[in-house]
Amino acid sequence: MRSWSAPDVPSLADHQLGHGPQVRVHDTASGGLVDSDPSDTARMYVCGITPYDATHLGHASTYLTFDLLLRAWRDRGLDVSYTQNVTDVDDPLLERALATGVDWEELAVRETDLFREDMTALRVVPPQNFVGAVESIPLVVGLVKTLQERGAVYEVDGDLYFSVHDDPAFGEVSGYDDTTMDALFAERGGDPDRPGKRDRLDCLVWQAERPGDPAWDSSLGRGRPGWHVECSSMALEYLGETIDVQGGGSDLVFPHHEMSASEAQVATGKPFAKAYVHAGMVGYEGEKMSKSKGNLVLVSALRRDGVDPAAIRLALLAHHYRTDWEWMEGPDGDLAAAEARLAHWREALASSSPADAAPVVEAVRTALASDLDAPRALAAVDAWATTTLTPSSSPHTPQHPTAQSPTDESATDESTTDQSATRTVRLVLDALLGLTP
Ligand code: ZN
Repeated sequence: MRSWSAPDVPSLADHQLGHGPQVRVHDTASGGLVDSDPSDTARMYVCGITPYDATHLGHASTYLTFDLLLRAWRDRGLDVSYTQNVTDVDDPLLERALATGVDWEELAVRETDLFREDMTALRVVPPQNFVGAVESIPLVVGLVKTLQERGAVYEVDGDLYFSVHDDPAFGEVSGYDDTTMDALFAERGGDPDRPGKRDRLDCLVWQAERPGDPAWDSSLGRGRPGWHVECSSMALEYLGETIDVQGGGSDLVFPHHEMSASEAQVATGKPFAKAYVHAGMVGYEGEKMSKSKGNLVLVSALRRDGVDPAAIRLALLAHHYRTDWEWMEGPDGDLAAAEARLAHWREALASSSPADAAPVVEAVRTALASDLDAPRALAAVDAWATTTLTPSSSPHTPQHPTAQSPTDESATDESTTDQSATRTVRLVLDALLGLTP
């Protein structure tokens, strides 16, 4: 399906600032930081939305996380091949459509459009492949056939199940024990108690047509795909075997990422991904953010209220991506803090005697390369703004240019004028943090 329009992302290398350092990210499977150092093209699959609700801050925070990774990779000098799916047919979508009397396809189109608008407003770089589940049904059928050939699929009353223990590495993404897996499987859309299954954790890959549900003809019979196998089939199709990063929110660790990895691994005989990267959950003033609690903070609603999308982006980046945190309202809340920060930066960017930009270039790059530490990157910009606006240290004497290009004469020229320091900070903000204050 159509992606959204890409923001212009400048390249620091094009401005004689060299490339950033190697990027390290936290891998859920190994429990530690891993080097993410693909040879030339970094391949990333991020699990997308089920379009039955508009983008809330939790979604936005997840997609911003992988936007930072993409920007850090590009700054490193890599090409990035990025695929994201849209689960445009699934139980939650069909249930919401039924409950609200809306056609499920109309609901999916409407919410996907809103998601695109939100991502565009937040300056999130779009995936090259933004792919719907419905349009991917032939891919799913192909993968299920392969799994059948491997003997890893069986039938229960017309539905097809993947036998998870056909993957010797099953369980290694989450590292959870059987009791935890069983509980999470039941909680997150699985059916451990269904009679006829060989293992309680085996997951549905093809659901035979149910009365009133959408269904498609296929060589597997008439029906629709299971959720996990959609992502495995799209990742294999658009990115190939053993991708660099499989990403998503931490609520996808199990069963979703565990299952989709196992399906791909049984099909290919190779590891699905080198790193599994998960973003934390965003709560609301002490509670889980959810439709049922009526406390979803929607990006589109904030935009409608006239909130600057840069302030929304900055408010989300102020929390490290792996932490679970709470969105707070009011004068001491997240948005107010981000607006004040933006104002501080804008004042510094307007100054005629800006502080040296080289420390900002280095600090922001180092912070992002170290497990996407956006809060530390923002602190470096704060420090620059404070130095710039502190009268006693004005006018500022530019120091050496960035350490990334010590031998580059043009970099020296570039950073020896005051205006160039401001331009460099703007470049860093735009290229690496997606902010154009
Ligand atoms: Zn997925």
